[in-house]
Amino acid sequence: MKEILVIGAGAAGIMAALAAAEAGARVHLFEKNDIVGKKLGITGKGRCNLTNSCTMADFIAHTPGHGKFLYSAYEQFTNQDLLDKLNAWGLATKEERGGRIFPQSDSAIEVRKLLYRKLCHKGVDLHLSDAVHAVKAWGSRMVVSAASGNYEGDACIITTGGMSYPVTGSTGDGYDFARSLGHSVTELKPALIPFTTAETWPHTLSGLSLRNVEGSLWKRGKKMASYFGEMLFTHFGVSGPIILMLSMAAAHKKACTFPMQLRLDLKPALSKEKLDARLRRDFEKYIRKEAANALKDLLPQRLIPIVLDQAGIARDCPVNQISREQRQDLADTLKALSLTVTGTRPIEEAIVTAGGISVKEINPKTMESKLVPHLYFAGEVIDIDAFTGGYNLQAAFSTGFVAGTAAATKECIPCEN
Ligand SMILES: Cc1cc2nc3c(=O)[nH]c(=O)nc-3n(C[C@H](O)[C@H](O)[C@H](O)COP(=O)(O)OP(=O)(O)OC[C@H]3O[C@@H](n4cnc5c(N)ncnc54)[C@H](O)[C@@H]3O)c2cc1C
Repeated sequence: MKEILVIGAGAAGIMAALAAAEAGARVHLFEKNDIVGKKLGITGKGRCNLTNSCTMADFIAHTPGHGKFLYSAYEQFTNQDLLDKLNAWGLATKEERGGRIFPQSDSAIEVRKLLYRKLCHKGVDLHLSDAVHAVKAWGSRMVVSAASGNYEGDACIITTGGMSYPVTGSTGDGYDFARSLGHSVTELKPALIPFTTAETWPHTLSGLSLRNVEGSLWKRGKKMASYFGEMLFTHFGVSGPIILMLSMAAAHKKACTFPMQLRLDLKPALSKEKLDARLRRDFEKYIRKEAANALKDLLPQRLIPIVLDQAGIARDCPVNQISREQRQDLADTLKALSLTVTGTRPIEEAIVTAGGISVKEINPKTMESKLVPHLYFAGEVIDIDAFTGGYNLQAAFSTGFVAGTAAATKECIPCEN
């Protein structure tokens, strides 16, 4: 019977262990925490966005970090395969806006506990509170040094995750293991992460969220990326879905170095002409008021002084004294409220880590190392990262399944001596 050593019990490691056990191998799963799937338990704001109902081609399109590398893994283990498994194991699921799939119970903890029961049921040898500190190749055998001792196996699968949310155990250990075995690790950057800003006014708006706005990121007058949707002002800058997506673009574009300019189109559905007409109507309605009181139909109250300041109009300026040019400046500001992005929050706060073990050194059909036979990788430790929407967990589950199956079923070439 083949013996497989899996390091890290996150989504990828759990699925790798289950797949290897289902393929008939004896599996040791090492986890530094005293529970499995600690990060899984906080995903999707505690609801766990397991996957997405979109096509696998769309999965790849939503994966700016080497989506194409996942083509074969997605063919071998699709979103439907994942759901079939989870449903057969007793997890009811539901689909929400944007094809996002969640457990019916809205409980990430339920997913974590279900996977734990499955690991026990399949006879996986669980080593909890057992941190691994080294991995070595010894002829055709792999050796893992854990807190509880040394273990030898036919294959080793590294599924230690990225570097974000280190309290969940993902502290980047797998990168060191891979480097010690001759692998290269591409630059590690935070992705899906809020921005910090030079201006302090967002701090004063902390907690205010805007819907249906368009945020675009600019560098030296060139637009790098733009997204439409929801955003949030915070005590350090800006966050929310469109900001996280822009941060992903910043992580992947070489020319995207900070500082950068963020422009917020507060009324993307209106052309400048239509917006000007709307302003004229509002100004007629509030002709006897001050500027700050004339925009209350158009903007959240807390944002009005900021917009007026950027447009160069005094907050107490009587509406009937606002000139045509000033009104047009106001329309320009509403279409491009500007902020200087100084950087991102630290990698520890990122939803995913961009960068990781180079995909060039991994066989995409098996997840086996091209440099070290019997060594496999799966999940976020690899240089793959995707947008929010269930894409990152599916990538972890699919690569985990492929690595576990391949490691357990690879032909053994008998040693000559
Ligand atoms: C707040 C948050 C919310 C998220 N929500 C979603 C979501 O809803 N949907 C989605 O698709 N993605 C989501 N993600 C991203 C997703 O959680 C990750 O991409 C995914 O968990 C990666 O799985 P993984 O198994 O590769 O790594 P991890 O889940 O990070 O697991 C790695 C495991 O390895 C263990 N480990 C590390 N080093 C060692 C060692 N030396 N010895 C033993 N064990 C070790 C760690 O303790 C950890 O348990 C979210 C991420 C965060 C931070």
